[in-house]
Amino acid sequence: MNYQAEREEVCAYGREMLDSNLTIHTSGNVSRRVPEGMLITPSNTPYHDIKPEDVLMMDLDGNVLEGEANPSVEHKVHIACYKFREEVQGVIHSHPQLGTAFAAARVPLPGFLDEFGVFVGEEVRVADYAMSGTPDVAENLVKALGEDSNAAFLASHGMVTVGRTLFDAMRVAKMVERAAGTYLWTMALGGPADLPEDARQFFRQAFQIFRAG
Ligand SMILES: [Zn+2]
Repeated sequence: MNYQAEREEVCAYGREMLDSNLTIHTSGNVSRRVPEGMLITPSNTPYHDIKPEDVLMMDLDGNVLEGEANPSVEHKVHIACYKFREEVQGVIHSHPQLGTAFAAARVPLPGFLDEFGVFVGEEVRVADYAMSGTPDVAENLVKALGEDSNAAFLASHGMVTVGRTLFDAMRVAKMVERAAGTYLWTMALGGPADLPEDARQFFRQAFQIFRAG
Protein backbone atom coordinates (compact mmCIF):
# COMPACT_ATOMS: atom_id res chain seq x y z
CA MET A 1 0.00 0.00 0.00
CA ASN A 2 1.40 3.36 -1.05
CA TYR A 3 1.27 6.59 0.88
CA GLN A 4 1.20 5.10 4.39
CA ALA A 5 2.23 8.40 6.02
CA GLU A 6 -0.22 10.44 3.91
CA ARG A 7 -3.07 8.01 4.70
CA GLU A 8 -2.26 8.27 8.41
CA GLU A 9 -2.32 12.05 8.10
CA VAL A 10 -5.82 11.95 6.55
CA CYS A 11 -7.00 9.65 9.39
CA ALA A 12 -5.47 11.95 12.03
CA TYR A 13 -7.15 15.06 10.64
CA GLY A 14 -10.48 13.20 10.47
CA ARG A 15 -10.15 12.42 14.19
CA GLU A 16 -9.11 16.00 14.92
CA MET A 17 -12.16 17.34 13.03
CA LEU A 18 -14.46 15.18 15.15
CA ASP A 19 -12.63 15.81 18.44
CA SER A 20 -12.65 19.58 17.82
CA ASN A 21 -16.45 19.59 17.43
CA LEU A 22 -16.16 20.62 13.80
CA THR A 23 -18.52 17.78 12.92
CA ILE A 24 -20.49 14.96 14.55
CA HIS A 25 -20.50 11.20 14.07
CA THR A 26 -19.46 10.35 10.47
CA SER A 27 -20.41 13.66 8.80
CA GLY A 28 -17.94 15.55 6.67
CA ASN A 29 -14.73 14.33 5.04
CA VAL A 30 -11.02 15.03 4.86
CA SER A 31 -8.74 14.67 1.84
CA ARG A 32 -5.23 15.48 0.68
CA ARG A 33 -3.77 15.68 -2.77
CA VAL A 34 -1.42 13.00 -4.15
CA PRO A 35 0.06 12.82 -7.67
CA GLU A 36 -2.65 10.31 -8.74
CA GLY A 37 -5.46 12.53 -7.46
CA MET A 38 -6.42 12.49 -3.79
CA LEU A 39 -6.71 10.39 -0.65
CA ILE A 40 -10.12 10.80 1.06
CA THR A 41 -11.87 9.43 4.13
CA PRO A 42 -14.51 6.76 3.38
CA SER A 43 -18.25 7.34 3.74
CA ASN A 44 -20.16 6.28 6.86
CA THR A 45 -17.18 5.15 8.92
CA PRO A 46 -16.65 6.58 12.43
CA TYR A 47 -13.49 8.71 12.35
CA HIS A 48 -11.81 6.84 15.19
CA ASP A 49 -12.32 3.54 13.32
CA ILE A 50 -10.81 4.62 9.97
CA LYS A 51 -7.53 2.82 9.33
CA PRO A 52 -4.95 3.94 6.73
CA GLU A 53 -6.04 1.11 4.39
CA ASP A 54 -9.67 2.34 4.56
CA VAL A 55 -8.70 5.70 3.07
CA LEU A 56 -9.69 5.79 -0.60
CA MET A 57 -7.45 6.88 -3.42
CA MET A 58 -9.42 8.60 -6.18
CA ASP A 59 -8.40 10.29 -9.38
CA LEU A 60 -9.70 13.76 -10.19
CA ASP A 61 -12.26 12.27 -12.59
CA GLY A 62 -14.01 10.65 -9.63
CA ASN A 63 -12.82 7.06 -10.10
CA VAL A 64 -11.77 5.00 -7.08
CA LEU A 65 -8.21 3.78 -7.72
CA GLU A 66 -7.66 2.04 -4.38
CA GLY A 67 -9.93 1.06 -1.51
CA GLU A 68 -12.98 -1.06 -0.82
CA ALA A 69 -15.23 1.43 0.96
CA ASN A 70 -17.72 3.74 -0.69
CA PRO A 71 -16.62 7.31 -1.36
CA SER A 72 -18.86 10.00 0.04
CA VAL A 73 -21.11 11.78 -2.48
CA GLU A 74 -19.27 14.90 -1.33
CA HIS A 75 -16.03 13.72 -2.99
CA LYS A 76 -16.98 15.96 -5.95
CA VAL A 77 -16.49 19.04 -3.77
CA HIS A 78 -12.95 17.95 -2.90
CA ILE A 79 -12.10 17.22 -6.54
CA ALA A 80 -13.44 20.61 -7.59
CA CYS A 81 -11.16 22.36 -5.05
CA TYR A 82 -8.04 20.54 -6.33
CA LYS A 83 -8.92 21.34 -9.94
CA PHE A 84 -9.80 24.96 -9.23
CA ARG A 85 -6.77 25.96 -7.14
CA GLU A 86 -3.51 24.22 -7.91
CA GLU A 87 -1.84 25.28 -4.63
CA VAL A 88 -4.48 23.42 -2.60
CA GLN A 89 -3.08 20.25 -1.02
CA GLY A 90 -5.69 19.62 1.67
CA VAL A 91 -9.50 19.96 1.86
CA ILE A 92 -11.71 19.66 4.94
CA HIS A 93 -15.48 19.49 4.66
CA SER A 94 -17.02 19.96 8.09
CA HIS A 95 -20.38 20.60 9.73
CA PRO A 96 -19.49 22.93 12.62
CA GLN A 97 -22.37 24.32 14.65
CA LEU A 98 -21.77 28.07 14.31
CA GLY A 99 -20.45 28.02 10.76
CA THR A 100 -23.40 25.88 9.69
CA ALA A 101 -25.76 28.47 11.21
CA PHE A 102 -24.30 31.03 8.76
CA ALA A 103 -24.66 28.43 5.98
CA ALA A 104 -28.29 27.82 6.94
CA ALA A 105 -29.14 31.52 7.19
CA ARG A 106 -27.08 32.06 4.04
CA VAL A 107 -25.25 34.94 5.66
CA PRO A 108 -21.59 35.46 4.68
CA LEU A 109 -18.99 35.94 7.42
CA PRO A 110 -16.94 39.08 6.70
CA GLY A 111 -13.22 39.42 7.37
CA PHE A 112 -13.65 41.52 10.51
CA LEU A 113 -10.54 40.37 12.43
CA ASP A 114 -6.84 40.90 11.60
CA GLU A 115 -5.67 37.31 11.46
CA PHE A 116 -8.85 36.23 9.69
CA GLY A 117 -7.79 38.27 6.66
CA VAL A 118 -4.35 36.67 6.59
CA PHE A 119 -5.37 33.01 6.92
CA VAL A 120 -9.03 32.77 5.91
CA GLY A 121 -9.14 35.57 3.35
CA GLU A 122 -11.51 38.29 2.27
CA GLU A 123 -14.71 36.72 3.65
CA VAL A 124 -16.49 33.39 3.90
CA ARG A 125 -19.11 33.49 1.17
CA VAL A 126 -22.13 31.21 0.92
CA ALA A 127 -22.21 29.01 -2.18
CA ASP A 128 -25.53 29.00 -4.05
CA TYR A 129 -27.68 26.11 -2.90
CA ALA A 130 -27.66 22.84 -4.82
CA MET A 131 -28.70 19.41 -3.61
CA SER A 132 -26.02 17.41 -1.82
CA GLY A 133 -24.01 15.17 -4.13
CA THR A 134 -24.90 16.95 -7.38
CA PRO A 135 -22.14 18.41 -9.57
CA ASP A 136 -23.68 21.86 -9.00
CA VAL A 137 -22.67 21.76 -5.33
CA ALA A 138 -19.02 21.50 -6.30
CA GLU A 139 -19.28 24.12 -9.02
CA ASN A 140 -21.06 26.60 -6.75
CA LEU A 141 -18.58 25.97 -3.96
CA VAL A 142 -15.47 26.86 -5.94
CA LYS A 143 -17.22 29.96 -7.24
CA ALA A 144 -17.79 31.00 -3.62
CA LEU A 145 -14.16 30.29 -2.70
CA GLY A 146 -12.75 32.33 -5.54
CA GLU A 147 -9.07 33.27 -5.45
CA ASP A 148 -9.28 35.32 -2.26
CA SER A 149 -10.68 32.94 0.36
CA ASN A 150 -9.74 29.59 1.88
CA ALA A 151 -13.25 28.93 3.20
CA ALA A 152 -16.82 28.90 1.96
CA PHE A 153 -20.17 27.80 3.35
CA LEU A 154 -22.30 25.19 1.61
CA ALA A 155 -25.83 26.61 1.76
CA SER A 156 -28.06 24.77 4.25
CA HIS A 157 -25.31 22.23 4.81
CA GLY A 158 -21.85 23.07 6.22
CA MET A 159 -18.42 24.41 5.43
CA VAL A 160 -15.40 23.69 3.21
CA THR A 161 -11.88 24.89 3.99
CA VAL A 162 -8.74 24.47 1.88
CA GLY A 163 -5.02 24.96 2.40
CA ARG A 164 -1.52 24.32 1.16
CA THR A 165 -1.43 21.56 3.81
CA LEU A 166 -4.08 19.81 5.89
CA PHE A 167 -2.64 21.70 8.86
CA ASP A 168 -3.52 24.96 7.10
CA ALA A 169 -7.01 23.77 6.10
CA MET A 170 -7.65 22.74 9.73
CA ARG A 171 -6.41 26.08 11.06
CA VAL A 172 -8.82 27.86 8.70
CA ALA A 173 -11.73 25.62 9.80
CA LYS A 174 -11.06 26.33 13.49
CA MET A 175 -10.52 30.02 12.84
CA VAL A 176 -13.79 30.38 10.92
CA GLU A 177 -15.79 28.51 13.56
CA ARG A 178 -14.34 30.69 16.33
CA ALA A 179 -14.82 33.87 14.28
CA ALA A 180 -18.45 32.90 13.59
CA GLY A 181 -19.10 32.85 17.35
CA THR A 182 -17.15 36.06 17.93
CA TYR A 183 -19.10 37.74 15.14
CA LEU A 184 -22.44 36.86 16.74
CA TRP A 185 -21.32 38.34 20.11
CA THR A 186 -19.91 41.38 18.28
CA MET A 187 -23.30 41.94 16.68
CA ALA A 188 -24.83 41.96 20.17
CA LEU A 189 -22.37 44.75 21.03
CA GLY A 190 -23.35 46.88 18.06
CA GLY A 191 -21.41 45.20 15.24
CA PRO A 192 -17.73 45.07 14.29
CA ALA A 193 -15.74 48.24 13.72
CA ASP A 194 -14.40 48.72 10.19
CA LEU A 195 -10.75 47.82 9.67
CA PRO A 196 -8.80 50.69 8.03
CA GLU A 197 -8.39 50.23 4.29
CA ASP A 198 -4.55 50.16 4.45
CA ALA A 199 -4.72 47.33 7.00
CA ARG A 200 -7.16 45.39 4.81
CA GLN A 201 -4.83 45.87 1.86
CA PHE A 202 -1.89 44.57 3.89
CA PHE A 203 -3.89 41.45 4.94
CA ARG A 204 -4.92 40.84 1.32
CA GLN A 205 -1.29 40.88 0.25
CA ALA A 206 -0.25 38.63 3.16
CA PHE A 207 -3.04 36.19 2.25
CA GLN A 208 -1.82 35.92 -1.35
CA ILE A 209 1.80 35.48 -0.20
CA PHE A 210 0.78 32.62 2.15
CA ARG A 211 -1.40 31.12 -0.58
CA ALA A 212 1.44 31.11 -3.09
CA GLY A 213 3.82 29.66 -0.49
ZN1 LIG B 1 -21.56 17.37 4.39
